[in-house]
Amino acid sequence: MVEQSRHDDILVLTIHNPPVNAFSPGVPEGLKAGLSAAAADDRIAAVVLIGGGRTFVAGADIKTFGLPREQAPDLRGTVQQLDAFPKPTVAALHGTALGGGLELALACSYRVAVPDARLGLPEVKLGVLPGAGGTQRLPRVVGAQKALDMMLSGAPIQATEAKELGLVDDLIEGGLLEGALAFARRVAAVRPLPRISERAVDGGSPEVFAAAREAIKKTHRGQLSPSLIIDLAEMAVNRPFEEGWQAEAQKFMEARESPQSRGLRHLFFTERESAKIPGLGKDTPLLDIRRVGVIGAGTMGGGIAMNFLNAGLPVTIVETTEEALDRGLGVIRRNYESSAKKGRLSADDVERRMALLTPSLDMGDLKDADLIIEAVFEDMGVKKDIFTRLDALAKDGAILATNTSTLDVNEIAAVTSRPEQVIGLHFFSPANVMKLLEIVRAENTSDTVLATCMALAKKIGKVGVVVGVCDGFVGNRMVHRYGEEARRLVDEGASPADVDAAMNALGLPMGPFQMTDMAGLDIGYAIRVHRARQRGEPEPDGWLDRIVKTGRKGQKTGGGIYDYDETRRPRPNADMQALIEAYRAEKGITPRSISADEITRRLTGTLINEGARILDEGIAQRAGDIDVIYIYGYGFPAYRGGPMHYAGEQGLQKVVDALKQYGHTPAPLLERLAREGKTFADFDRERANSSQK
Ligand code: NAD
Repeated sequence: MVEQSRHDDILVLTIHNPPVNAFSPGVPEGLKAGLSAAAADDRIAAVVLIGGGRTFVAGADIKTFGLPREQAPDLRGTVQQLDAFPKPTVAALHGTALGGGLELALACSYRVAVPDARLGLPEVKLGVLPGAGGTQRLPRVVGAQKALDMMLSGAPIQATEAKELGLVDDLIEGGLLEGALAFARRVAAVRPLPRISERAVDGGSPEVFAAAREAIKKTHRGQLSPSLIIDLAEMAVNRPFEEGWQAEAQKFMEARESPQSRGLRHLFFTERESAKIPGLGKDTPLLDIRRVGVIGAGTMGGGIAMNFLNAGLPVTIVETTEEALDRGLGVIRRNYESSAKKGRLSADDVERRMALLTPSLDMGDLKDADLIIEAVFEDMGVKKDIFTRLDALAKDGAILATNTSTLDVNEIAAVTSRPEQVIGLHFFSPANVMKLLEIVRAENTSDTVLATCMALAKKIGKVGVVVGVCDGFVGNRMVHRYGEEARRLVDEGASPADVDAAMNALGLPMGPFQMTDMAGLDIGYAIRVHRARQRGEPEPDGWLDRIVKTGRKGQKTGGGIYDYDETRRPRPNADMQALIEAYRAEKGITPRSISADEITRRLTGTLINEGARILDEGIAQRAGDIDVIYIYGYGFPAYRGGPMHYAGEQGLQKVVDALKQYGHTPAPLLERLAREGKTFADFDRERANSSQK
C-alpha cells in the first residue's frame, strides 16, 4: 500500500489505497516501514510523502471506527514517528488532504501543494474530532480563530489560502512530485527541523473561545464534539503540546463512542447506500436531459425551476394566466437577487440564470423538453387533464413527472399511452433549498427513467431517495401520524408549546406545531377534510380544526397556533389556549400534566411505527432510506441518525412498550425485530442479503 522509491538522496513514500487513499489498515504499517528505512539509511537526506492516483490521504477509513483501538490503523503512532523524525519530511498534497490526511501532513516538517488542493479537518461532521494531533497542531499554524473556524465548520480551504496562512510552505505549479523533490533538496540540510509541535499559538485570547462556545449553541445545538474541539484548541494555547496531545486521545475516544457519532456515521453510510437501487445495474442506460419543462409557477414550480437553472439547464415554465406567470417569475428573480445581495451570486449569475428561463402560456412549448415536471394544484382531475395533454404533445422518450404530495402516481400514469415514462419527483418546500427529493417509482416506471432521475437529483445537488406509491409516500405519511399524535397529546393536557419544546430538545429545529404554523394550517385542514369525506366520516372538528376556522392560518396570516412578531418567534396566544381548554371541557377530558419524556417517546414512537409499516410494505427499500428522508426533509437531527436508527439506540423493545402503553398497535415488523433483539440495520442487512440471492 505504500511504495518506496529512491530519487537520488530523497526517499519518496507513495500511498496507494484507491479510490481516496483512506488511512486503512496497511497504510500506517507501510509508512512506518518506509520511515524506518529512511532513518537507517545514511544516503537518504529527506523524505517526501505523496498520494498515488487522484488525491493525498482524504481521511480516516470510517469503516475502522468501530474496531477496538489495538486493531484500528495506528494514525497517532505514525504521526509521532513523523514528528520525531531526524530528517526533513515533506508532504506533497493534491486532491484533498482531509482529517487524518491533514494530520499526517501537519506532522511533517514541510507541506507543499498544487494550487487546487483542498485541506481540512472535517471530523466534526461525523461527530468526532481530529484525534491525531490536529487539534493541537492546526492552531499552532493558522492561529486559534482560524483553526476553530476550520475544525467547527469542517469545511476545507483551498491550497492558495493555506499558503497565505502558512499551512502550506510552497505552491507547486506543474508536476507535483518533481516540485516536491526540488523543494526537499532545498531543505535537506536545514537544522534544527521545523516542528509545529514546538510552536506557540497566535491569538488565543479567552474571548475567542468564549465567543466560539456561544456560537456553537446556535450552529451545533446539543452536540458533543464541537465543545470538545473548543476545549482542546484552548489547551493548545494554554498547555504544553504533550498535555494537549494526551487529552486529545481521550476526548477523541469519548466522541467516537458517543451515540451522536454513531448517528452521524450511520447517515454517512446510509446516504451513500440510498443512491443504490437493488436490481438496477450500473449499466442501465440514462436519458440525456438537456431541456426541462415545468408546469405551474406557484410555490413549488418556481423553486423546482430554479434547481435546473442553477445547474445550467434551460427551463420553460408554463402557467395559465399572464398574471400567475409574472408573479412566479417575480418570485424567482427576487430569490436570486436576494442571494446576490448576500454575496452568494454575482449580478451576472442572476442574469445568466434568468436568461435560461422561458415563460410561456402554451403547453405546446414543452414539445422539445426532455423532462417535464407538473406542479399544479393538488387535484386529480387537473393532473389527469395535464398528463393527457402532455401525452399528446411531449416528444418520444420525454420523462413526465408529477410533484404531487398525496395523489396516486399510477392513476396519473394510466391516462397516458406511456406509463413507463411517468414518475413522481416529490420536491420539498422551499424546493430550491431543501436537499431531499423523493423519487416515486410507479408500477410501470422504466429502469432508465428511474436511473436518469437518480442521476439528475445528484446533478442538481439533491439527495434522491426512491420510494413507492402510497398516500403521502414516505415522509408525509410518517409526518401525518406524528401530527395526529401531537394533537392527541394536546387533547390530553400538554400545551402546543410543551410538545414543540420537547421536540426542540431532541434536536429538531421545529416541533410539530411550529411546523404546522409555517406550512399553513389550511393545508393540513384541507387534507383532513378530504380524507374524512373519502372515508365517509364526519367533518374534522378537533381543536386544531377549530383554530383554522377562526381564520388564523399560521405564519402567513400573522398567527395560527402561536402569535408571531417581526422576528418570527412563536409566542403562545391566550385565546387559542382558551379555545383548547374549551374543547377539552366539551369532550369531558380532564387535562393531565405530560412530561417531555412522554412527549418524545410517543412522537418518535409513532414515526418509527409508521416507518416499520412503510418498510414492510416495500414502499421504502431500506430503513436507512427512511432516515435519510426524515433528516433531509423534516429536520430530524443528523446526529441522531434518523428515526429508525434512533429506535435502535433506544432498543426496539422500549419503542414497542411505549406504543402499547399509549394505546397504539405496534407494526408486526417492529414487534418481530424487537422480539429477536434486532435493529432496523439488521433488517436492512437481511433484506440486502435476500435480494442478492
Ligand atoms: P400553488 O397553488 O402555489 O401553485 C400551483 C400553480 O399551478 C398555480 O400558480 C396555478 O396557476 C398553476 N396551474 C394550475 N393549473 C395549471 C395548468 N393547467 N397549467 C399551468 N399552470 C397551472 O401550489 P404548490 O404549493 O406549488 O403545489 C403544487 C404541487 O406541488 C401540488 O401537487 C402539491 O401537492 C405539491 N407539493 C407542494 C408542496 C408544498 O409545500 N407547497 C410540497 C411538495 C409538493
